[in-house]
Amino acid sequence: MTGYTPMIQQYLAIKRDFPDTFLFFRLGDFYELFFDDAVLASRELEITLTGREGGGDERIPMCGVPHHAADGYIAELLKKGYKVAVCEQVEDPKAAKGVVRREVTRVITPGTMMEGKWLTDKENNYMAAVAQLDGRTGIAACDMSTGEMHVTSLLGSGESAFEEALQYRPKELVFCGLSSTPKTALPFTVLDASELDAFAVDSQYQEQAKELDLAMRLAVNALLSYIGTTQKRSLAHMRTIKRYDANQYLQMDGFSRRNLELTETIRDKTKKGSLLWLLDRTETAMGGRLLRRWIERPLLRHQELQARLDAVEALKADLLLRSDVRTCLDRVYDLERLAGRISYGNANARDLIQLRHSLEAVPDLKRLLAQTHSPVLEELAGGMEDCSDIVGFLQAALVDDPPLSVREGGMIRTGYDEYLDKLHTASREGKTWIAQLEQAEREATGIRSLKVGFNKVFGYYIEVSKANIASVPQGRYERKQTLANAERYITPELKEREALILEAEEKMIELEYQLFAAIRSEIAQHIPRLQGLAERIAAVDVLQSFATVSDERGYVRPELAESGEFLIEEGRHPVVEAVLDKEKYVANDARMDQEGRHVLLITGPNMAGKSTYMRQIALITVMAQIGCFVPAKSAKLSLVDQIFTRIGAADDLVGGHSTFMVEMLETKHALQKATERSLILLDEIGRGTSTYDGMALAQAVIEYICQKIGAKTLFSTHYHELTSLEETMSGVVNVHARCEEREGKLLFLHKIEEGRADKSYGIHVAELAEMPVWVIERARSILAGLEAGSSAAKDMQMSLDMLWSAPVAAVKEEPAPQLAAVELAIMEELRELDLNQTTPMDAMMK
Ligand code: ADP
Repeated sequence: MTGYTPMIQQYLAIKRDFPDTFLFFRLGDFYELFFDDAVLASRELEITLTGREGGGDERIPMCGVPHHAADGYIAELLKKGYKVAVCEQVEDPKAAKGVVRREVTRVITPGTMMEGKWLTDKENNYMAAVAQLDGRTGIAACDMSTGEMHVTSLLGSGESAFEEALQYRPKELVFCGLSSTPKTALPFTVLDASELDAFAVDSQYQEQAKELDLAMRLAVNALLSYIGTTQKRSLAHMRTIKRYDANQYLQMDGFSRRNLELTETIRDKTKKGSLLWLLDRTETAMGGRLLRRWIERPLLRHQELQARLDAVEALKADLLLRSDVRTCLDRVYDLERLAGRISYGNANARDLIQLRHSLEAVPDLKRLLAQTHSPVLEELAGGMEDCSDIVGFLQAALVDDPPLSVREGGMIRTGYDEYLDKLHTASREGKTWIAQLEQAEREATGIRSLKVGFNKVFGYYIEVSKANIASVPQGRYERKQTLANAERYITPELKEREALILEAEEKMIELEYQLFAAIRSEIAQHIPRLQGLAERIAAVDVLQSFATVSDERGYVRPELAESGEFLIEEGRHPVVEAVLDKEKYVANDARMDQEGRHVLLITGPNMAGKSTYMRQIALITVMAQIGCFVPAKSAKLSLVDQIFTRIGAADDLVGGHSTFMVEMLETKHALQKATERSLILLDEIGRGTSTYDGMALAQAVIEYICQKIGAKTLFSTHYHELTSLEETMSGVVNVHARCEEREGKLLFLHKIEEGRADKSYGIHVAELAEMPVWVIERARSILAGLEAGSSAAKDMQMSLDMLWSAPVAAVKEEPAPQLAAVELAIMEELRELDLNQTTPMDAMMK
């Protein structure tokens, strides 16, 4: 470090403590980054890289951002998964001897963001910890911006625990005591378990910690210790720890959540087009977040579900009441994040006014809910504190429309503080005196154009135009400033008044700030009450959202059964229906039970609606198990404990698996974990390998599910041979997506009917895709041959087999006489394939 200037030495000393973090180093009006930080930041933020002499041999790379614009840049880095440490000047540069003292005042990481503009309203910002101890794995997750904290633990280590942590869609992870670090693209930190005491839980949580097992405690500790080192401020609003048992909820792995597009679409990963998007008619940010959590964690218990369904039913029945409830909710701001800001001490007066307006809506909301005659809603309303004391306090303390800044005054209402009022009076009187001065001086001097004005440099003055200078009273007026065609004067009385006014204003501003800070601390005492209220409001909001969508889209209340029955009459895919025209969507029944029908084998051509049908059944299940009505004419459903899906192409490029391998992994997952109460969706299992291979696998999978698991299963396939399983396996039933052929064209009816599909329509689909007519015609004639079972067809098969096995040279020299030009071209292409470099998917496409 020798050779560097003192400031750079200071920088390097601080930077040493934050090696994997961008250090925003305050230098006057800028935050500067140096060395490698600067090089990387200039690239990530697209800002100019410059340099600076720092006493070393070479110029030091540097880039910077204006301090007032820093938040935007920080947000961008956080979004990319980086951490940022903000280093401020902590003494007045004028007073400093030598280099100004600097300290890191906060470290902001993707998982610990709290500021409004860095967060998405209707999304939680979780940070999760996974910790292993005593043969169990603990998972703790918290959202710093709302103060919530959840914890659970699972037996053993490994995948499921990590899956559980990922359910929160955390922005950042902490690992502690794991035998191996899970593969993840998320930013993570590994903490040393030996430095954390599983027994010692923060005093704030001492009481609750008694109920936690050791793995949970270690996870909570890891989380709190990480937060402690990054946040250098109060965590008082961090709520009670919510302990839960993961088995209380319907389990879905990451694949299935993604496949079913519960909260985002597969294609562009946006909310639009997902189930969440469809169901989200919430009016509050808290409601929006809770809805997301409910969708991610469907329930397993009848009682809780019936309660939700009762509430939805009541709200759905009364449109007028519901719209009043919605209007009322619309007045409620984000209480949870307001509480967070109040507790951190960065809420401003406008935030407190938002709080007041939110609380003012509560009595109305309670009154409306009481009219629903729904015990569930009445209970929710009953549990809502109306917080009239807080409202009264805020009404008395703050003006209705305070400024954004807390350092300019203008926040406190008259009558709240006697001394402040006195200062106000003094200042007002002074101003009135000055306002009257103009008239008085005009009369005294006879100068009609005399003016009293104010500017920042000279304060108050009396202005007289050059033409009238002769009439200025000698002695009493003192000249202060000369302009082109006027002179400005002051008088001793004017200056005296001015001093009084300025002094009063300065005092007022300071006093207002102090009063405001005290008001904020006072409100901070009530944060648990606000959080309790927020929770209830959020629940009401989600329930009204369900009711609104259910009403508008004609959903029905599902009947929840215990018997294992599963009957859907005229079910629809909620999202496809919404995107299509409702009239265009073809409703379909589904009937499954525990005895004769638990595997539905679905055949039919591509594009016939097989996978839409499968997803529709899964989505109806999820909707029922979050307490929403469902898109059907009627539905009687038995609760499902887990959903597994293997649908469509879900590439695992990060994991480095081929598509076929992913398919096998997902299928294995289902076979290992499913129970009799699970729902399994398998879409064309086995197609990623050769025909016989694939068919054999598909059949074995169906047999396994039938004989060993008994789970409700929807299995779509192109292997028509499998449909004969219906005769040999009890539980397997054939259904098909009906199509009709009219005038040589294929018509998709999207109707699922009993029995197997009788024909493969692949060629028609190829025709729809506008393949060259030549190929279509040729395929028709080959198919005709195959169907006739003629020897020509067998020859065809043989010659295709030969293509794979015959030595290349032989094929070249003696092309089989029956091969046409196209077939030769195909052979050419096949020969050029490097099979060792081709994934099964690519091979198939080829
Ligand atoms: P498959 O899985 O059989 O290849 P899909 O389920 O992907 O077919 O359906 C193909 C298209 O048909 C979908 O994109 C959808 O627009 C439409 N579709 C599917 N089911 C229906 C239905 N029940 N009513 C109307 N349109 C449907």
